[in-house]
Amino acid sequence: MRRPLDMNEELKVLARSDAKSAGLKRYFTGEPCIHGHLSERLVSTRQCIACKRADADRLKESGYFIDYRSAHREFAKTYHKKWRTDNKSLIIQKRLDGRDDSLVQRAEYREKNRDKIRQHYHNNKGLYVSYVRKRQAAKINRSLCGYDEEIKEIYVQARKLTEKLAACVDTDDPEQIIMHVDHIIPLQGREVSGLHVPWNLQIISASDNRSKGNRIE
Ligand SMILES: [Zn+2]
Repeated sequence: MRRPLDMNEELKVLARSDAKSAGLKRYFTGEPCIHGHLSERLVSTRQCIACKRADADRLKESGYFIDYRSAHREFAKTYHKKWRTDNKSLIIQKRLDGRDDSLVQRAEYREKNRDKIRQHYHNNKGLYVSYVRKRQAAKINRSLCGYDEEIKEIYVQARKLTEKLAACVDTDDPEQIIMHVDHIIPLQGREVSGLHVPWNLQIISASDNRSKGNRIE
C-alpha cells in the first residue's frame, strides 16, 4: 500500500543516520531533491520518494509490467513443455499406476479419518447434497438401462490403449498418448446435455480432451 504523499504534512527534519539507528525507513532533509520534490527519502538508497513514485508510474504507463507478465507466461509455457518432454516416461508411468494408488490412498484416508469426515459432512450438508444431486442428475437422467457393460468396456479399452501406446510410441508430449473417455456431447453442456451411453463416448487423448473442455467439437 502506498502511503499518501501529503504535502501539507509537517515533515520533521531528521538526519539519515538518526533515522537509521531508530530503525526507520525514511528520513527528511528539508531540502528539495534535484527534481524539486520536497519529499522524504529512503534510508536505504537516499532516493527521493516522490521521484521513486514518478518512476514507477512511468513504467506502469509504458506497459512494462504487462509485457513482463506476458513474457513470463510464455516462459512458463515453454518451461513446462520441456519438463514434460524430459519426464515423459515418468509421467506416463505415474498416470498408469497413479489412479490405483490414489484410490488406495483415498480408502485409507477415509478409514483413518472417519470422524473428521463425518463432522465435515455434518457441517456442510447442503454442499454435499448439491454435489450428489448434480452427479445423479447428470448420470441418472443422462443414462439409459442396459449399457453398463458396454460403457465399462470403453473405459477398459481406453486404459489398454494408453498402455499399448506407452509401450510403442515415442512422443515428446505424453498427453497425446494418455487416453481419456470423453463425452462427445458433454453430460452437462451449457446448451444441450449428452447421454452417458456408448455412442456418446469416444476415446481421445488427454491433450485433445483438455483443449476440447466442456464444448462440443
Ligand atoms: Zn524527487
